[in-house]
Amino acid sequence: MLVEVAVAAAVRGTFTYRAPPALAPEIALGQRVAVPFGKSRRATGYVVGFPASAPEGVALREVAAVLDRVPPFTPKLVELIRWAEDYYLVPAGELLRAALPPGLNTRKGAAAPVRRGVEYAAPEASAADALPTLARARAQRAVLEYLLARGRIPVEELRAAFPAGRPALGALARRGLVRLEREVPVARGGLLPASAAPLALTPAQAAALEAIAGAFGAFTPFLLHGITGSGKTEVYLQAIARARAAGKGALVLVPEIALTPQLAGRFRARFGDEVALLHSGLSPAERHAEWQRLRSGEARICVGVRSAIFAPVPDLAVVVVDEEHEGSFKQEDGPAYHARDLAVVRAKLEGAVVVLGSATPSLETLENARRGRYRLLELPARIDDRPLPEVELVDLSKLRRPGRDLGPGLVSPRLAEALAETVAAGKQAILFLNRRGYETLVVCEACGEEARCTECAVSLTHHARRGILLCHYCGRTERVGERCPACGGARLGVGVGTEQVEEAVRALLPEARVARLDRDAVGTAEETAELLARFARRELDVLVGTQMVTKGHDFPGVTLVGVVLADTALALPDFRAAERTFQLLAQVAGRAGRGADAGRVIVQTFNPATPAVACASGHDYAAFAAGELERRRRHGYPPFGRLLAARVEGSEAGARRTAEALAEAARPALRGEVAMLGPAPAAIERIRGRTRWHLLFRASSPQALFRVHGALARVAHRPPGGAEVRFDMDPHSML
Ligand code: ADP
Ligand code: ZN
Repeated sequence: MLVEVAVAAAVRGTFTYRAPPALAPEIALGQRVAVPFGKSRRATGYVVGFPASAPEGVALREVAAVLDRVPPFTPKLVELIRWAEDYYLVPAGELLRAALPPGLNTRKGAAAPVRRGVEYAAPEASAADALPTLARARAQRAVLEYLLARGRIPVEELRAAFPAGRPALGALARRGLVRLEREVPVARGGLLPASAAPLALTPAQAAALEAIAGAFGAFTPFLLHGITGSGKTEVYLQAIARARAAGKGALVLVPEIALTPQLAGRFRARFGDEVALLHSGLSPAERHAEWQRLRSGEARICVGVRSAIFAPVPDLAVVVVDEEHEGSFKQEDGPAYHARDLAVVRAKLEGAVVVLGSATPSLETLENARRGRYRLLELPARIDDRPLPEVELVDLSKLRRPGRDLGPGLVSPRLAEALAETVAAGKQAILFLNRRGYETLVVCEACGEEARCTECAVSLTHHARRGILLCHYCGRTERVGERCPACGGARLGVGVGTEQVEEAVRALLPEARVARLDRDAVGTAEETAELLARFARRELDVLVGTQMVTKGHDFPGVTLVGVVLADTALALPDFRAAERTFQLLAQVAGRAGRGADAGRVIVQTFNPATPAVACASGHDYAAFAAGELERRRRHGYPPFGRLLAARVEGSEAGARRTAEALAEAARPALRGEVAMLGPAPAAIERIRGRTRWHLLFRASSPQALFRVHGALARVAHRPPGGAEVRFDMDPHSML
């Protein structure tokens, strides 16, 4: 028997092996195998086909071992991966490896998946009276107060509120104040706790649900365009309940689980153990166990991040992509692919419905809806007709006149006043600035020399609390010197980062409880969840942070959102700069006024008239999209044209030589249909000491780009100059 194997290595194409008779019965499509590869190496591979004949003149080697009891990938997933291999021009083996945690051999005794059930916590009758005795056990007291307010709830939900609260819960149980119960699912729907019962839908939600559920059984793509707080998640939940009632499975892709523990909690609370979670916060063994639960059919709903697009959900009826516009669905390192676009392909292969949900759909998805390829569903109002927040623009260029001051940390007098009012009224505020650190640039006042990374072509960021200059690309640090190393002149920090904003807010409001959420302030997913939970419990008044504060959080106490500087992403050399700015502003504005009190947003900007800023402040997605689509059409950029990037990395001379050789090879294949931009040094010319060059190809169809790729591949295989070449179809990062 012959076996076609995709090897988990950076080589495109597949290899043919012979299956020894002893192993043959166990070898199936999607199975993981160990194969001899190269001179002495053994590699992991995946069975992707059974060829009838072997390539000529090759001495076939034998499959060495079969690694799983059950193939981790279904035949449909193998089909999806082969599609992705051809479209994204990346090795199938790398895609398969990225999908599955490596290094686990389930035949050699990895733990069998356990039936965990859902654990509930409930306060005992005596608990309220015992509260005063807990005066000194603050954590226990907080957990117990929460339970007294909420009644019997899944421990999962409690964990969203108190990520580090497990010991306190255990102590309460030992004191006999809290009852812990585990319910193993017996019958479908048998374990829905009252708090997780489906909500009565609004007419717009009901219409969306009927359209989605009515399409089950055949490939149907939908765009669910609903403003922030319009109840999209409830539509997903009820559509999935319908799929489950019909015995089918569902896949939900979310941008980032660490930042939205509430969302995962909502799915777990409603569907209990039928939900398998797949994200990077899990250990490889945990991920593997979740994978097995899906593969065996024990779990039938998968909620996961990007790579979960390859999760083995059985009998898939519906795929949901929440916040479909989010850049994190695009994999850029390693094998480049777009999980949102693969979601549509997967739905097509499996005859499923796919729902792309967003308040600010990507222009690609919008254009697909406009052309009638996707069915458009709209949720135009917030739940309970809560108004969208009022947005006020503060023109920073008018403030920066002689004799006037922008305010420390870029907090203008207007924003400072609004912050003070909010905190005085006992409400909460979010301040957003997409730059971490204290100062984003340190220059010499005398000679103008900038502190730059020696390994990367970027300036170093000053992190005041740690007392260092830090490179955000390679992580290199330097001590902050007072004096310029070149001329001895005094150094000056410019450009405000979140650390400085936090300091300014503390100075302005000494009484307020202020915290910062960015990658410097929180390390792990757990710390992130704990900080968000503290904010949700209203133990904090002001949260300052990077785009980590803009995600789908639902904090009813937030009535003020301040955008410290709306312009940070506008000037980037990227055709999506305006779209990203609009989406970020709309998302962060959507955090305000989600509770009973109306919200307001203050946006500080040097460009109040630029469409991304002006439309976001008017909550006018339609106007922004119309203008931006027109601009894209004029320049032939997506969604009206397609792009292929070739990214070259190597030595200074080698990268250049490789890039030039690629250009040379591409020229005859352009045939007037494909525009070649470059070769040119990348916007960030050097990272980690490696020089970077880019070539960008633009055409009206992918076929023309595939033809160019054919010409490029020959050079990329053995590049003169020895640089590394990676291809990126439908690229996102232009840097
Ligand atoms: P979105 O995902 O569109 O931002 P959510 O689904 O998070 O919105 O809903 C916003 C809030 O409204 C949530 O607190 C949710 O529980 C609540 N909600 C959603 N649908 C309903 C409904 N039909 N009735 C009452 N509350 C609802
Ligand atoms: Zn660096």
